[in-house]
Amino acid sequence: MNNESIFQDIINKKIQTNIVYQDTIITAFEDINPKAPVHILIVPNIFIKSSNEINKKNKYILAHMFYIAVKIAKKQKISREGYKIIINCNKNGGQEINYLHMHLLGGKELRSLY
Ligand code: C5P
Repeated sequence: MNNESIFQDIINKKIQTNIVYQDTIITAFEDINPKAPVHILIVPNIFIKSSNEINKKNKYILAHMFYIAVKIAKKQKISREGYKIIINCNKNGGQEINYLHMHLLGGKELRSLY
């Protein structure tokens, strides 16, 4: 499905969303269909389709996404109790939006998948 433009529109503020953090590299916003009291999506500002497209040149973006996810978790006061960070990739990984994104989930006990 060609749906990556949804996140591009959120980054460019063409779609009204609650952006919790933005800098020149990434944008973080509240998931429209939250699966937990805190459910934030963290996305790169440049288009990367999935984790399969992480390479030598863009890998610094992932480190930044992770760094900011933890900062947001602390700010949202979910870090002490804990949280889950998820990246889904392609069909079997459950990726619905073809634009690399990190889920930050917390505020309740979340079961492990394994
Ligand atoms: O990892 P996956 O691709 O399944 O997750 C996509 C996420 O994007 C979903 O959690 C969905 O609720 C969210 N979404 C959103 N705003 C949109 C469209 C999807 O927050 N406009």
